[in-house]
Amino acid sequence: MPEAGGSQGQRFAVDRMLGRLARWLRVLGHDVAYGPHLGGRTLVACARREGRLLLTRDTRLRRDRQLPPHLFVASDHFREQLREVARAVPIGNAALLRRCLECNRELEDLPRERARDRVPPFVWATNERFLACPRCGRLYWPATHRASMVRELAALGLIEGSPQ
Ligand SMILES: [Zn+2]
Repeated sequence: MPEAGGSQGQRFAVDRMLGRLARWLRVLGHDVAYGPHLGGRTLVACARREGRLLLTRDTRLRRDRQLPPHLFVASDHFREQLREVARAVPIGNAALLRRCLECNRELEDLPRERARDRVPPFVWATNERFLACPRCGRLYWPATHRASMVRELAALGLIEGSPQ
């Protein structure tokens, strides 16, 4: 079993069949390699090369005796999948909502003035803090994105219930 990650969280290589799981692991702040190109041998190679925990539903991979550290995910529902991962490694203590959900890059703080023309006026007026993805430019405003995601994760028992 891999060691617990530090503040950077766990590093995963997630099978392309597990899209929602990959996204939620990013919500929790983990470094998740995931994409349409990552399946089968390509995924295994990525996990091995980058020292990532392999998460897959592809049971054909069991034949590979050299398989790097891995977890076969049994459920096809993302909530149960998250629980399966949580039973194997600690996943609830990384940096919540500090990673782009689309491209996995860590978000950077964006001065509030620079968000002004890039979000709806109401959003700008009601949020103090904005984060931007250095790769795709997508903006995040934690207050809004947090509430529903925090509720979901707290309901799963992965994080404490209080927002912030
Ligand atoms: Zn991005």
